[in-house]
Amino acid sequence: MAAIEEIEILWITAGLGCDGDTIAMTGASNPAIEDVLAGTIPGLPKVRLYNPFLAYENGGEFMQHFHDVADGVSTTPFILVVEGSVPNEENKAEGYWAAFGQDPVTGEPITTCTWIDRLAPRAWAVVAAGTCATYGGIHAMDGNPTGCMGLADYLGKDFRSRALVPIVNIPGCPVQPDNFMDTLTYLLRQAAGSAPMIPLDESLRPQWLFGFTVHEGCDRGSFYEQADFAADYNSPRCQVKVGCWGPVVLCNVPKRGWMGGIGGCPNVGGICIGCTMPGYPDKFMPHMDEPPGAYMSTAAIATYGTMVRALRRFTQGSMDIEPEWRRPAGEVVASKTQGADDGRD
Ligand code: SF4
Ligand code: SF4
Repeated sequence: MAAIEEIEILWITAGLGCDGDTIAMTGASNPAIEDVLAGTIPGLPKVRLYNPFLAYENGGEFMQHFHDVADGVSTTPFILVVEGSVPNEENKAEGYWAAFGQDPVTGEPITTCTWIDRLAPRAWAVVAAGTCATYGGIHAMDGNPTGCMGLADYLGKDFRSRALVPIVNIPGCPVQPDNFMDTLTYLLRQAAGSAPMIPLDESLRPQWLFGFTVHEGCDRGSFYEQADFAADYNSPRCQVKVGCWGPVVLCNVPKRGWMGGIGGCPNVGGICIGCTMPGYPDKFMPHMDEPPGAYMSTAAIATYGTMVRALRRFTQGSMDIEPEWRRPAGEVVASKTQGADDGRD
């Protein structure tokens, strides 16, 4: 496909959600949306963004471009970004769950599903931003009357855009800001002809962002290895016994931080509740209970970890004292070795 020099981003925030993904994205710095739109990043096409939260226009003036694209009046290539869970508009006799703008002729609301039906087949690529749009999220919890689902459940997992790109899922509740911009930038490079097809995993997530577990990037991992577990939320130690699902959840937030490299759930005291996973939230509830699998893994590591911690304290005690020849003659220094029982929780 020919290299694209100019592309639009049509961003629908009208799924069921909290609009937190748009807000989160504005905190990105790697790159910032401002830099992409200002054209300061070499090699990217010229980009125009249509997002109802960030637009100067509103009402019919803002909606006009969506109508033009859906009607084929505007033919500029575009990336469709969907934010929020996709409801099932077929599961009731009347009314609607989610809508975006009005039909200019009838004045009736246009459902979000109608927009997806009209725009997705025309899009150069389709992106689901945040856990609601990717897998349904909180709105798709068992018993929810909306019948909400993720975009790939709605369009079909085998959906391909005009450029033959699968749906790109960037989960997170909300999406990690730089994960979104990182992925968008990749797609823009692909559109410009300078990157191969975006590599996605089985759940349609970018492989380079979701290839490792939270645990594998967590600042507290060494406490886990030493079987040094927090008993409450006021501890710098491993939080697995107070509800952290990090060992099995695919997410790079502890490595990447939240904004500007700072934060990242378990690094700053928040247990991982698995928000990037297709099974979220039902399979991770009740939050704050010890995950069932943690009983076995922490029991298995208890003997090794406790012994290693004791040996390290012993070695640390001898290393934490100046060598004899650097001390005043005759000075006696008490051992600092604390052993296994160092009073920690
Ligand atoms: S806090 Fe969670 S992610 Fe971090 S080491 Fe403990 S179990 Fe792993
Ligand atoms: S660390 Fe866990 S709770 Fe935090 S963003 Fe990643 S998956 Fe969600």
